[in-house]
Amino acid sequence: MPHPPMRLYNTRTRRKEDFTPLNPADVRMYVCGPTVYERAHLGNARPVVVFDVLYRLLRQVYGADKVRYVRNFTDVDDKINAAALRSWQGGAPGTLEEIIRARTNETIGWYNADMKALGALAPTDTPRATAHIAAMVAMIERLIAHGHAYVAHGHVLFAVERYAAYGALSRRTTEDMRAGARVEVAPFKRNPMDFVLWKPSEGNLPGWESPWGRGRPGWHIECSAMAHALLGASFDIHGGGADLMFPHHENEIAQSRCAHPEGDFARFWLHNEMLQVEGKKMSKSLGNFFTVRDLLEAGVAGAVIRLVMLGTHYRKPMDWTTAKVKEAKRCLINWFLRIKDLPAGLRDSEEFPPDRDMLAALHDDLNTPAAIAALHRLSKQDTAWAHAQLATSMELLGLRDATPPPSPIEYREIGDVSALYAQGHDEADSNKITDTIYRLLDKRSSARQGGRFKEADAIRDALMQAGVSVRDTQGKWEYDIDRAFDAKRFWEITQNL
Ligand code: AMP
Ligand code: ZN
Repeated sequence: MPHPPMRLYNTRTRRKEDFTPLNPADVRMYVCGPTVYERAHLGNARPVVVFDVLYRLLRQVYGADKVRYVRNFTDVDDKINAAALRSWQGGAPGTLEEIIRARTNETIGWYNADMKALGALAPTDTPRATAHIAAMVAMIERLIAHGHAYVAHGHVLFAVERYAAYGALSRRTTEDMRAGARVEVAPFKRNPMDFVLWKPSEGNLPGWESPWGRGRPGWHIECSAMAHALLGASFDIHGGGADLMFPHHENEIAQSRCAHPEGDFARFWLHNEMLQVEGKKMSKSLGNFFTVRDLLEAGVAGAVIRLVMLGTHYRKPMDWTTAKVKEAKRCLINWFLRIKDLPAGLRDSEEFPPDRDMLAALHDDLNTPAAIAALHRLSKQDTAWAHAQLATSMELLGLRDATPPPSPIEYREIGDVSALYAQGHDEADSNKITDTIYRLLDKRSSARQGGRFKEADAIRDALMQAGVSVRDTQGKWEYDIDRAFDAKRFWEITQNL
């Protein structure tokens, strides 16, 4: 099927551009991954979900084996060291390095499990920074050799004045950047904006031998070195949260372009906006901070989290609200019901390609809200063909790989017709059953109003035996269809009422 050209908003040019990869047989994307010392919070999941949709779309367009997606684990970092030092001082057994190793390993395991629950495919490569120290040292040596970096007090620093385009991605002037620099600047820096490529590791802190003594890399060089090692000097897309644009991405560009002037580094830069909770920045002090695991354990399915996230375009700030969770749950229960008999893993095929409107929306700078609107329209068509297409479309959005929403029988709010559908009754059949329940419950209400309580109770008891429980709340009745509902028995019991 011919595809419309894919358009992506490139932060570098601040425009939507036609996306064509350098090599359509080897499309390459790098996304900054997590610093691994604690559970991923809900905000951390946003770039994962957004770039997973892009990865799936690229695979759809160029072929599943033609796309390489690298997302790193930052497992050497001062925040990790500080957290480990606290446990070590608190009496945790082992050396500091052992504590760090155990903690980063455990956090990576959590991260993989949590992101899998959200339906994110594993990237093709998930390098750990500590496995690429040699590449970082080699890159720093090149920078020194080319005059872009200098050694001072056991540190190696990048000289921002030696890269003319510094600040171009975030469009900051030297003035802006200087004003934003930390108040306390290390006295050995030639320019307050110069940033660390390598720093000494004293005592029991993790460290590696290098031409500048035992030390460890700065955060920025980790990404530059891993991207170069795995994707080369020029690749197609670099992604991450908007909070990383400055200084992290600015510094990645400076390092990579100066160490490897033969390449362009990343051609497209994509940034997702931040996530908030009920209109406020997520923070521990406001008590609205939670991890992905917290939500999953509270019974919010991965597919629900994913659909809520995709309901906002990635370049807009998104607000997480309980109302959206409820709505997404309702919607997914309905969609999953329609595709329940289709095999899992039903991929795009000639026969059931994903919805065209949805594909067109995704090709337009990943317009996921429009893609979801297209699925709403598709889900209203009650044909086997539409159901199959809904399945392949949901698959492309990653909704079928996430932990699914509850089945309607467990989720009564959706209404009892769905509960019956879930048991295999068709629409006509379900309507007959619910019409009968309504008729009997109305009859019971009249009996009660007329003071014929015995008759009213008999109706209620009969329904109960037939697998329908009745409740009275605020003068109105409600009913639930039990899990063990049996239609044959229902008709036997109710036929004479
Ligand atoms: P970190 O582990 O802090 O380096 O963050 C990992 C990723 O999560 C980065 O791509 C950040 O941009 C992203 N991130 C962190 N907080 C949020 C948030 N509130 N909303 C969206 N993305 C976020
Ligand atoms: Zn990075």
